[in-house]
Amino acid sequence: MSKSTLCKTIRQHNKEPVPKENMEKLQEIADDYNKIRNYVYKRYGGIGSLKKLYPGYTIQNEMTISGIREQMEMPSVYFHLAVLDAIKDIKNQWIRTKSRILKLIGQNEGLSKEEKHYLRFLLKVSNAFIAVLNQEPVDNLPDEIQKQYDKIVQQVDWERMNRYLCRQVRKYHIKLHTSVVEGFPLTERAYRYGEHGIYISIKEKRKRIFIPLTDGNQYKTRIYMKLCPEQERVEIIAPVNVAVHIHEDYINQVGVSLGMNVMLTTDSGHKYGEDLGKYQMEYTEWMRKQTWSYQQNRSDNPGRKKYRAGKRSYEEKLHSYINQELNRFLRIEKPGIVYMPRLPKPQAGGKNRKINYYATLWQRGYIRKRLIWKCREQSVEVAEVIGKDISSECSRCGMICQKQKEIFSCQFCGYSTEEKTNAAQNAKKRGEGGGKLNQDHKNNP
Ligand SMILES: [Zn+2]
Repeated sequence: MSKSTLCKTIRQHNKEPVPKENMEKLQEIADDYNKIRNYVYKRYGGIGSLKKLYPGYTIQNEMTISGIREQMEMPSVYFHLAVLDAIKDIKNQWIRTKSRILKLIGQNEGLSKEEKHYLRFLLKVSNAFIAVLNQEPVDNLPDEIQKQYDKIVQQVDWERMNRYLCRQVRKYHIKLHTSVVEGFPLTERAYRYGEHGIYISIKEKRKRIFIPLTDGNQYKTRIYMKLCPEQERVEIIAPVNVAVHIHEDYINQVGVSLGMNVMLTTDSGHKYGEDLGKYQMEYTEWMRKQTWSYQQNRSDNPGRKKYRAGKRSYEEKLHSYINQELNRFLRIEKPGIVYMPRLPKPQAGGKNRKINYYATLWQRGYIRKRLIWKCREQSVEVAEVIGKDISSECSRCGMICQKQKEIFSCQFCGYSTEEKTNAAQNAKKRGEGGGKLNQDHKNNP
């Protein structure tokens, strides 16, 4: 049962270290992709090429006949993507330049109302903007718009205004250039899944590189290959549309409280992720040892690799546990809405280094993000509530009590329950009472 879809970013990883010669071939593609992009930026990023940007076929054609692809011996599947991406980047760059100038015009007290109106018109009407920047007459706009132009141009010293606009563009329009080569995109024509891995087209004709993957998922969209040569690792990033599940029986209102030892406690005292503390402890202990030996052997490369691999493995274990327990939470509690206290702002200064260190390892942000995401996938609403005093307020009588450890017992009405359960009950109470902050989470995992 699915109604709508969510766009989700999925990552795939190589199962074995990527051999050096294969990594070099992948880097070659990334370098070429980047070279082409920079070439397009340089050749078409300026004022003179504005006319060619929309709709952009001209640039594609010119690039195709330029012979540069053949010169570089670049597979066309990568070449065309690089050109298209670069055109998109240039268009975005122009949008940024225009909006920056628009803002400056608004702030400029030296300009009259009519002058501002004239300049805004030029920035809004693409063909007028292009003509003015290229010192050409503005005379080929659609009838209605041309009439508007003919009227407002008479109200200002247009020559002065055009010079002003050109000056601003020269000042603020920075030509793009990228020097960071992180990876490259691929369309379906450049890859094929199979044999529990992925085949990637490379520069050598009809040859492909095979990368075994940790999962057997296959995608059919444009994907991105991120390269981490130092770690002999690649990451495949795929945006996929996932169906949102709608459960008729998910109707409960559930307040939750997140914690460091027990991941999640509900208002009825149910616990999920009770082993989180244990996992954390192991990880922390390991980190502490590693940090020490890491500092002893700074120049030791294999040691570093081992450290990174170890860290990743601990984190993966932790994350898979968190996800599994969150799934269990949704399955059992069947919430229609989840009330969750908002995160307190990070404390300035950091009173206690040890606690801060532990808290960074504690995947608090990760747990929240995953909870929000998983709720969205199951079309469960998440509402954040004000977190102030949530663990010291009595959920029965509403009085603020002194903070106590583990067991909350109210000095006023005598109510007694686990501290986390009390906090979750408050979350629910605040949520139902209209203390919701925001419900529209746009977080991506
Ligand atoms: Zn009370």
